[in-house]
Amino acid sequence: MDEQKRRLVENEALFREVNERIRGLVATLHGPGPFGFLCECSNRDCETRIPLSLEDYEAVRAQSDRFLVAPGHVFPDIERVVEKHEHFEIVDKDDEVEAIARARDPRVPLQ
Ligand SMILES: [Zn+2]
Repeated sequence: MDEQKRRLVENEALFREVNERIRGLVATLHGPGPFGFLCECSNRDCETRIPLSLEDYEAVRAQSDRFLVAPGHVFPDIERVVEKHEHFEIVDKDDEVEAIARARDPRVPLQ
């Protein structure tokens, strides 16, 4: 496993954890949204917010190796775009790094 690729996926997993906390809070406090979720791209310094309804957010989370990113915030070394929308894109991890994304999914209980 390429160390740099591993780090890129770890960055995305970190953003995803933050978004899961945002989701947990807003869902109980404010209803269906839209809310400003963080772009989950591999750039640690990215501060882009993506307005998204809880429903759309849940659609991204349905698969452990899919992430929410702003349009163009794609790292072709580790992922490919599977859905394009006006304000966001959904990327799917390459097979090589998919296991990391799955292992770090807070919704999947540890085996
Ligand atoms: Zn980004």
